[in-house]
Amino acid sequence: MPQQQTRCPSCAEPLDPEDDYCGACGLNVTGDVPSAAATPETATATAPAPGCVHCGSAELAADGYCESCGGAQPRPRDHQELTADGVAGVTDRGLRHHRNEDAFTVAATHLPGGEPAVLAVVCDGVSSSARPDEASATAVEAASAHLLTALQRGRRPDQAMREAIGEAARAVAELAKDGTRTPSGSQNAPACTYVSAISAAGLVTIGWVGDTRAYWIPDDRESAVAYRLTEDDSWAARVVAIGLMNEAEAYADPRAHAITGWLGADAEEIEPHTVSFTPHVPGVLLVCTDGLWNYAEAAADLAERVRPDARTEPLAAARELVDFAVTAGGHDNITVAVLPISPPAETTLRTVPLQSASAGAAPLHSSPTLQLHRPGSGS
Ligand SMILES: [Zn+2]
Ligand SMILES: [Zn+2]
Repeated sequence: MPQQQTRCPSCAEPLDPEDDYCGACGLNVTGDVPSAAATPETATATAPAPGCVHCGSAELAADGYCESCGGAQPRPRDHQELTADGVAGVTDRGLRHHRNEDAFTVAATHLPGGEPAVLAVVCDGVSSSARPDEASATAVEAASAHLLTALQRGRRPDQAMREAIGEAARAVAELAKDGTRTPSGSQNAPACTYVSAISAAGLVTIGWVGDTRAYWIPDDRESAVAYRLTEDDSWAARVVAIGLMNEAEAYADPRAHAITGWLGADAEEIEPHTVSFTPHVPGVLLVCTDGLWNYAEAAADLAERVRPDARTEPLAAARELVDFAVTAGGHDNITVAVLPISPPAETTLRTVPLQSASAGAAPLHSSPTLQLHRPGSGS
């Protein structure tokens, strides 16, 4: 969400009003002494470092800040890279936030028939909620565990996806019951947005809640078209959908990015959206947080930032996308996972239009067949 900006008194970097610490130099800009209650530990917090990376002081607080200079110390979640059997992802704290509230995982498994399946889960902690970093990590863990088990047991991907979102929602809602660890001043229960993708047996399945997104980026961007596969649960998407504003007006409004769907104890009825399609040309799926797509919202713009060999170099592609968002301002945490999609050759051949197949320069099938599964539409 756009925020009124102030500047760090130490290094003059722009600050968000809700920032307790300067994202650039780590200065505590609240005037308070850092405390464990204000920045709760996460399960992935690092072991104590030998000394402050800024001033060398050995006086490091448990929350990852230097008692002497206030400088933030590097933490594992600041920048993480994961790969699993042809799928890769990168997350980065960015330049403006004092911690990374995004979480993600990638994984590979096999269906009962032996066909490989890969998946990625990406969640974005809602900054105005309590413990958003725990919310996102909890959702990723719950959803990925369910997806792996369900796929191994032969569950249909769209069913597995809806169940996984339900599991993630329950796990995040459960966090609110531990009220003793909610920082004072936070009224909202721990919350996050969600997006995940499964690629298995030729079928791609996406599921989401909130404004985390998935994009389809074909290898050949001359004859095939890049698509956004998700529809945000956001104020802007809603007013456009009901015809109150056109897209340009809606996205120019300060309320544009306010989300209308999330996982958390205070969420209204959670509507897990799913979409499935069979790609007929090679390409990659991107699943990402708004820290990336805020800098290249349209699929065609984002596709320009995806290296042509992303399908065979998914980690390099993910790194480049994160670097792009950091260079563009890094205002938010950034996470992107890249899932390579390589349809079998005979599938590709079947979809070449007959009349141009003999011409030697056939445009390949450019539009994936989308099957939307909305809540209540059955399965
Ligand atoms: Zn600063
Ligand atoms: Zn220090």
